[in-house]
Amino acid sequence: MQVVKDVVIVGGGTAGWLAAAAIGKIYQGKLNVTLLESDAIGTVGVGEATIPTMMAFHKLIGIPEAEMMRETHATFKLGINFKNWGEIGEDYIHSFGQVGRIFWAGEFQHFWARAKKLGVNAPYGAYCLEHEAARTGKFAICENPILNYAFHFDAGLYAKYLRSFSEALGVVRQEGKVARVEQDADSGYVKRLHLESGVSIEGDFFIDCTGFRGLLIEETLNTGYENWQHWLPCDSALAVQSAKTGPATAYTSATAHEFGWQWRIPLQNRTGNGVVYSSQFAGRDWAEKTLISNLDGEKLFEPRLIQFKTGRRKLSWNKNCVALGLSSGFLEPLESTSIHMVTSGLIRLLRLFPLRGIQSVLVDEFNRQSREEAESIRDFIILHYHATRRNDTEFWNYVRTMPVPDTLRHRIDMFTESGMMFLGGDELFRTNGWTQVLIGQGVVPKHYQPIVDNMADGEF
Ligand SMILES: Cc1cc2nc3c(=O)[nH]c(=O)nc-3n(C[C@H](O)[C@H](O)[C@H](O)COP(=O)(O)OP(=O)(O)OC[C@H]3O[C@@H](n4cnc5c(N)ncnc54)[C@H](O)[C@@H]3O)c2cc1C
Repeated sequence: MQVVKDVVIVGGGTAGWLAAAAIGKIYQGKLNVTLLESDAIGTVGVGEATIPTMMAFHKLIGIPEAEMMRETHATFKLGINFKNWGEIGEDYIHSFGQVGRIFWAGEFQHFWARAKKLGVNAPYGAYCLEHEAARTGKFAICENPILNYAFHFDAGLYAKYLRSFSEALGVVRQEGKVARVEQDADSGYVKRLHLESGVSIEGDFFIDCTGFRGLLIEETLNTGYENWQHWLPCDSALAVQSAKTGPATAYTSATAHEFGWQWRIPLQNRTGNGVVYSSQFAGRDWAEKTLISNLDGEKLFEPRLIQFKTGRRKLSWNKNCVALGLSSGFLEPLESTSIHMVTSGLIRLLRLFPLRGIQSVLVDEFNRQSREEAESIRDFIILHYHATRRNDTEFWNYVRTMPVPDTLRHRIDMFTESGMMFLGGDELFRTNGWTQVLIGQGVVPKHYQPIVDNMADGEF
C-alpha cells in the first residue's frame, strides 16, 4: 500500500473540473491536485441540464448559487416536459417534486387510482407543486414550502467557473496533450503521463476524465465496456444552439420524434437544442431536418454531430485509476443524469478515498455502488422508450417490443398489477419519479392497495 498524495486529473470538461473542485475543497492541504487538459482536443461541449442533487453538491463544496448562475447564464429547472412519448400528441411533466402526500395506508398513486375510479379526473401531476409551477411558468425560492429545483447552464462557462473556483483552492492546471502513458512494470499502475511537449507528470492516483475515449481506464488499462445499445439504441446526437425567443421555461423539453427525440434547454441568453437518434434507423439528414424544423429561434451555428455508445465501463475504479464522466460510460441524456453521476461518483470517491493506500475492499465497494447506480438509472431511462404505444416507425416498434432487463420488467409488472413500487435504498429515482413517468406514458395500475378503501368516498 502506497500512501496517496499526488492526484492527477486528466481532462478539463465538466467531469474533470468538478473532480478538481470537490477534491481540491474537501482534501485541501492533504493532497496535491493537478488537472491536465488539452485545448487542442477540447470538450464535448454539451450537458447543460441538471437535476436537484446538483444543489446539494454545490452546498457541499461551497459554490455560491447566485454567483454560479450569473457566471454560467443559468436558469432554473423544475422538471422535464415529455411530448409524444406515450403516444403522439400526449405530453406530461416529470417534475422534481413530491406528488400528493405520503400516508401510512399507502403511497399517493393508490389514492389517485381510487379517485380515478370514483370519477375524479385530475391529472397525476396536478397534485405536485413543482409540476404546477413548471406548467404555469412560475418559480420562487421559498422556505415553506420548499421548491425542489435544478439548473440549466452553459457547459463551457460552467467548466470555466469551476476552474477558477478550483485554482483558488490550490489545484494546479497544466495544458498539454498526453502522448504516452507509462505504467509500473510490476503492478500495472499508471505512473507517469508523457505530454507531446516533452513534459511528464507523475502521480499516485489518477482520475480519468478524458471523455468517451477513456485514455487511462480503457486505452491504457483495457478495462472493458458493457454495451447497452440493445436496450438504448440511440447512438448519435446533433446539437445546435439557437437564439432566445422569450422567457425561459422552468423545464427542459424532451420531444419524441420518429427515430429519437429532441432536447430544448433554455438559458438566460440562448437555447441549447439537439436531436438524439439511432443511426440504425435514421441518418444524419433526417436528424438535421428534424432538428432545424423544430427550433423556435434562429440557429447560431452549424449543428455538431456527437456519436456515443450507451453502456458502462466494466469497472469504474481499476488499479490506481477512477473513471468519471463520459470515460466511465454513457446513458442517454433523457433524464439529465450524466453530471449527477459525476457528482455522485465524486461523493463516493471522497468517502472511500485511499489516503492511506489503495485497498481492494475500497475498490470493490466503489465498483459495486457505481454498478448499482448505473443499472437503476439505465432501467429508468429504458422505461421511457419501452412504455409507449407508438407504432409509427420501426424505431418505436423495436423499443416497444424489445425484451427489457428483468429488474425493469418486474417493476413495470408490479406497478401495472398492483400500483406498488419497491425501490432499493440508494436508487436515484424514487416513487415520485417512477410514477410520474409510468402514468405519464399511459401505464395506469389495474388495482390499488385495498386499505385505501377505508377512506370515505367523500374524502376524495
Ligand atoms: C448529446 C449529449 C447530451 C448531453 N446532455 C446532458 C445533459 O443535459 N445533462 C447532463 O447531466 N449530461 C449531459 N451529457 C453528458 C455531459 O455532457 C457529460 O457528462 C459532461 O460534459 C462530462 O464530460 P467529460 O468531462 O467526461 O468529457 P469531455 O467534455 O469530453 O472532456 C474530456 C477532456 O479530456 C481532455 N483530454 C482527452 N484526451 C486527452 C489527452 N490525450 N491529453 C490531455 N487531455 C485530454 C479533453 O481536452 C477534455 O478536456 C450529454 C452528453 C451528450 C453526448
